[in-house]
Amino acid sequence: MSRMADPIPRTMQAMVYRGVNDLRLETVPVPRIGAGELLVRVAVCGVCPTDIKKIHYGTVPPPRIFGHETAGTIAQVGARVKGFRVGERVALHHHVPCLKCHACRHRTFAQCAQYKRTGITAGFEPSGGGYAEYVRVMSFVLPGVVKIPARNTFVEGAMQEPVNTVLKAVKRLALLPGDTVLVAGQGPIGLIFTRLLALRGIRVIASDLLTPRVNLARKWGAKWALRADKKGFLDEVRRLAGKQGLDGAIIAVPSDEAMLQAQILLNGGGKLLLFAHTRRGNRTGIDLSTVCVDEKDLIGSYSSDFTLQQEVARLVFSRKLDVRQLITHEFPLEKGAEAVDLAAHPQPTSLKVMVWVKNGGI
Ligand SMILES: [Zn+2]
Ligand SMILES: [Zn+2]
Repeated sequence: MSRMADPIPRTMQAMVYRGVNDLRLETVPVPRIGAGELLVRVAVCGVCPTDIKKIHYGTVPPPRIFGHETAGTIAQVGARVKGFRVGERVALHHHVPCLKCHACRHRTFAQCAQYKRTGITAGFEPSGGGYAEYVRVMSFVLPGVVKIPARNTFVEGAMQEPVNTVLKAVKRLALLPGDTVLVAGQGPIGLIFTRLLALRGIRVIASDLLTPRVNLARKWGAKWALRADKKGFLDEVRRLAGKQGLDGAIIAVPSDEAMLQAQILLNGGGKLLLFAHTRRGNRTGIDLSTVCVDEKDLIGSYSSDFTLQQEVARLVFSRKLDVRQLITHEFPLEKGAEAVDLAAHPQPTSLKVMVWVKNGGI
């Protein structure tokens, strides 16, 4: 099927971050691309907690255009770019490692200097740009462009990046089939954890403070699911884990209490993974002998792993992990500030929030 490229306008709408909690719909120039770059017309962009934190706490200087879980259609291909055509539907990754440096050789890709650069922008300091009609995709992140199969949706494209961050964490835990794991927090990320672990034959005990999420966790593959504020929660988890005990715990909520509880519950040699403690300066008390003597590993995981891109694409596009079921709210770009507000203050039945930029067809 061939199609004519739509003409590219000079200006576009974008949701610009102008200061703490200040997002404005503005008219800005459509980015120009270089010979080694792509221009993508954005269809949809997910609202991610890491962007929400930057908007709420003002941790980076304005102005910026955020949004990094982006999918859309290639609108223009730089003269030197090979392997991409105008009209192709693609998902984007805004961070791509160099694969050559010291950090990359240790597979700590998120610590690579190139990885830390943001390679997608809609203008201003590159910050993802997905909350705009067009984004410029720089040459060093072209290896992170994933083509969306015809049968799949833009939403499934936009979810590649968040799913990747979860799969990376699951691999860091290196658990065995039959192990028992506590997943604290059953928001969109926690539910993806639950599903990916269940697919590996791991028995998941899911917990959350919201009943609808607890119920959903069972549908997503949790063997057991319960409210974390339930009386006798610790005993209940112990009982469920049984003789074998708890081999791992994933803390997918920024709760120190959840972390300290999990550290107590874990087997000797068990693994505790922090996924949501992204705020700097946060300190907490932990009995260090549980790490040294009991060999309970304390692990962190942040951002995505480039080498998992194909595995993530297979999981999502085959719908073994059906991410469409996570989307509870969609807002047009004009109401992007509302989308961010809802994602920042989740309701009992809200999960993943998406911003639609163009009616590119779901
Ligand atoms: Zn994200
Ligand atoms: Zn590197």
